[in-house]
Amino acid sequence: MASSLPPSVADPIDALLSAHGLRRTSAARLVLGWLLAHPDTSYTHAQLQAALASDSSEALDRVTLYRLIDRLTQVGLLLCRVDANRVRRYQAMPASVHAIPHFECQSCHRDSPLAGALKANASDLERAAQSAIAALQALGYQDMSMDFAVRGVCIDCAAGASA
Ligand SMILES: [Zn+2]
Repeated sequence: MASSLPPSVADPIDALLSAHGLRRTSAARLVLGWLLAHPDTSYTHAQLQAALASDSSEALDRVTLYRLIDRLTQVGLLLCRVDANRVRRYQAMPASVHAIPHFECQSCHRDSPLAGALKANASDLERAAQSAIAALQALGYQDMSMDFAVRGVCIDCAAGASA
């Protein structure tokens, strides 16, 4: 039947979970599916729980959600970042990007993406990251991700200090 759902083996979320050795539970599907559908969203545990609760009829308790997020992060399906208020934020690991250059200001503790500021150099970084990952993969390393952080004083703080 044309209207029937595709078999679960063809489901990209199930495939991702299986490939990373995770059980394909409805909770895991829900969380990973939601984050993959919102790739530009970087959410805290609490924000994610609220978003899932309003998006789904399925109630996910806090402990289950936290464990699941930890597991998904451990296997590299989620990217965890600590924001300016030292709160952990999660987003789906971008498939094509192994290193997202970002800037951590040591003065105001803001964490901002650098792709815009780096322009063409950002793709050089991504290529360098990909070739490093490929070299490690050839040695047998698995489930890798890379975090590229530049630390210093941001433009706003620098301007404030010199004013
Ligand atoms: Zn700053």
